[in-house]
Amino acid sequence: MSPVPDAAIATRPANEAERLAALTHLEILDSLPQQAFDDITALASALCGTPIARISLVDADRVWFKSRVGFAYSQVGREGAFCAHAILDPDRVMVVEDARLDARFAGNPLVTQSPAVRFYAGAPVVTAGGLALGTVCAIDTVPRSLNPTQLAAMQALARLVVNLIEREQHLREEARSASELAQRRNQYLVAVATEALDLKAFVDRDYVYRYVNQIYLDYWQLGRGAVEGRPITEIMDAETFGDLVKPHLDAALAGQVVCFEATLNFPLRGTTHVELTYLPARDATGTIIGAVVRVHDIQKLKEREQVLRSTVALLESKALSQQKFIHMVSHDLREPLNSIVNFSSVLADELGPDLSAQARRYLDFVRSGGERMKLLLDDLIGFVRLEIHAIEPRPVDMTRITQLVRDDLALAISRTGGRVECGSLPVVQGDESLLRIVVQNLVANGLKFVRPGTAPVVRISCSSNQLWHEISVRDEGIGIPLSQLENIFDMFKRLNSRKEYDGTGLGLSICRRIAELHAGRISATSAPGLGSCFSLYLPVMQPHQTTAPAHALH
Ligand code: ADP
Repeated sequence: MSPVPDAAIATRPANEAERLAALTHLEILDSLPQQAFDDITALASALCGTPIARISLVDADRVWFKSRVGFAYSQVGREGAFCAHAILDPDRVMVVEDARLDARFAGNPLVTQSPAVRFYAGAPVVTAGGLALGTVCAIDTVPRSLNPTQLAAMQALARLVVNLIEREQHLREEARSASELAQRRNQYLVAVATEALDLKAFVDRDYVYRYVNQIYLDYWQLGRGAVEGRPITEIMDAETFGDLVKPHLDAALAGQVVCFEATLNFPLRGTTHVELTYLPARDATGTIIGAVVRVHDIQKLKEREQVLRSTVALLESKALSQQKFIHMVSHDLREPLNSIVNFSSVLADELGPDLSAQARRYLDFVRSGGERMKLLLDDLIGFVRLEIHAIEPRPVDMTRITQLVRDDLALAISRTGGRVECGSLPVVQGDESLLRIVVQNLVANGLKFVRPGTAPVVRISCSSNQLWHEISVRDEGIGIPLSQLENIFDMFKRLNSRKEYDGTGLGLSICRRIAELHAGRISATSAPGLGSCFSLYLPVMQPHQTTAPAHALH
């Protein structure tokens, strides 16, 4: 066929790129023939009385026919195609009554040569978005014209085509997303079944394995083909099956959930503690179709349980020996110490005048050494006791505690000429005797660590918020260097010589331990030379709160 003259080539629509994208998206090009489209073509042919009718879709370089009657080719080149002209005016049916008389088509080889087209009527197929995809067209080799009813009917057929195309696409998309969803669900189900840490199997009513997960195969060192589709008795011996498996399976098949612990001997793992569960599996109607067997490996749990049990036993025996130790220290050591202290005093009293000054000094060393040792012993016993102490919190009136401490320390207060002042204190949750030890230690230190020649003043106060009580014991004593504020809570830590201030260095470590036993904290602030303040933090609600938050502490 001779080339198409330039005049016969249609310009491209302004929205060509968009139009082609829509054609691709609708997935209509090169699709299989469909009866609905063929019916429309037949209708167009009958309507216009033409031997040829087509549903044409104008692609980038071709016109492809979704349906055609009286025309042999499934597609033609876009150049020179009548439809390429028709889509330029999407709102109108393009009617060419006699192509020989139309400047656009007179030189077109389709007109000048076979099939010698004379008549063409094309109703554009336009999407909802206004894109003309192609036409429903009728063609004849003799001149013709269409009346307004025929024109309107052609437009109606074109609308039908676009509706069909769009509906098909919509259905395809729906099907696609439904299948994607089903695929994804399937993936999740497979993941849940396979990636579990438990061994899982589905056994049907005939005791045949229908499904096992990967971990099941790994534990038993078996291939899927060796298990799935096979009766259990092919995999384990009849006796084991009859004694250990069948009764539970039967119970599950009868609708019961069976759960128990056992040990299984796996090929690589050896004897392993497991928890076995047999669950009835039902179909959609509720009929039991088999049993799900779940094997949960609890070997590690059992091992940890064992470790825990031996730790508890160890702790119990430690606690026992600690108690023995405390008993031994408080009785067997205290007695000879008492003798040393008492008899050195007796010796000093009775033989005093007869002894040389040096002997008296030595005797005094013996007595004061013994006294110090007694003190140390008491504190040590107190500390060791705390190690094995568990508290049962009860309401403790801190005002009463402070009063008792004041009574206990009456001698020291009067000897130093000091005073102990007390603000309003709350009732807290804790162990009364232990909290009394804390207050006693803090107040005693406040009375003790004063500059020579000054009378001590100790103030006890409390501020509380929703979470914490902060009980403060403040003094105007010698103070503590900032660098030592943390260390003073360590065992045996003392900042001053014994000559200046006596003590064992255990008091504050006992206080810290008691604070911890109450799920609280103790801390100190100080201005060296001016005084110190010790704060005991006790949780307002017991006992699930643990440590004091950092911001609550100084
Ligand atoms: P001790 O009082 O028996 O020496 P503590 O454990 O009670 O032992 O105190 C440890 C050290 O902390 C003390 O030796 C002292 O140096 C310092 N310290 C404690 N309380 C005070 C205080 N209120 N003022 C100054 N220093 C103190």
